[in-house]
Amino acid sequence: MDDFNSETDSDYTSYWRDWFISSRGNEYFCEIDEEYLTDRFNLTGLNTEVQNYQHALDLVTDVFDFDCDDDVREQIEKSARHLYGLVHARYIVTTRGLAKMLEKFKKSDFGKCPRVMCDAQPLLPMGQSDVANSSPVKLYCARCEDLYNPKSSRHAVIDGAYFGTSFHNILFQVYPAVLPPKSQRRYEPRVFGFKMHAAAALSRWQGEQRDALKDRLRAVRIESGFEKEDAEMEEDEEEDEMEGVDASFEGSANPPKSFEGGTNPPKSFERGANPPKS
Ligand SMILES: [Zn+2]
Repeated sequence: MDDFNSETDSDYTSYWRDWFISSRGNEYFCEIDEEYLTDRFNLTGLNTEVQNYQHALDLVTDVFDFDCDDDVREQIEKSARHLYGLVHARYIVTTRGLAKMLEKFKKSDFGKCPRVMCDAQPLLPMGQSDVANSSPVKLYCARCEDLYNPKSSRHAVIDGAYFGTSFHNILFQVYPAVLPPKSQRRYEPRVFGFKMHAAAALSRWQGEQRDALKDRLRAVRIESGFEKEDAEMEEDEEEDEMEGVDASFEGSANPPKSFEGGTNPPKSFERGANPPKS
């Protein structure tokens, strides 16, 4: 089914959406219901965005009946794919569309987060713009809350507007149970076991702040829930913390006394542990 032109006309016009969904490179798309496509209200405004709109729509809804040469057919085919993508962005934020995309998400059809500490968290496709031809599709990881490029070059060229900027967030609002816990583990750069660089000092400072926060929570008897409510807690704490931040960072960026004494790190390492002067 890969080569479109090798199909006879009857195959070609019978199950366009089936063909589209099962084509290599279109794995991110779900099938749009017939009823959704045939309700003109859902297609409002798309006639100005898609060339050969009526023919393209006929092709997508399997009622294409128009004699034309291959060049024109190729154009209509291209328009049909574009139209399908634009309708897709609207469809996947409907109840039916969300349910279909949720199934694909659970099967990891969109791939898994490449970050080691995300433990193969399934990704969701998203656009950085809702306007067509702005930027290609990206993949969103809900655990580390970051974006990634698709691994396959076939996926990397799909228009991000076919998924839109809101779908991935709406899915987690509608299905909060599939929202993973936030990533708590962080990578610590080390050389032969010793923490290194300003980045490590900053990481250490953040770790200390987190521990201090946990202690305070324990003191006022707010039990656990820390992992999940981390983000909320930090917001509350930020106001209280702001004054002390600069001073304490300066201090803890230097290696602690016990570290200097206990292990006798070489001079060059001590310098490296301080943030660069510039
Ligand atoms: Zn991740």
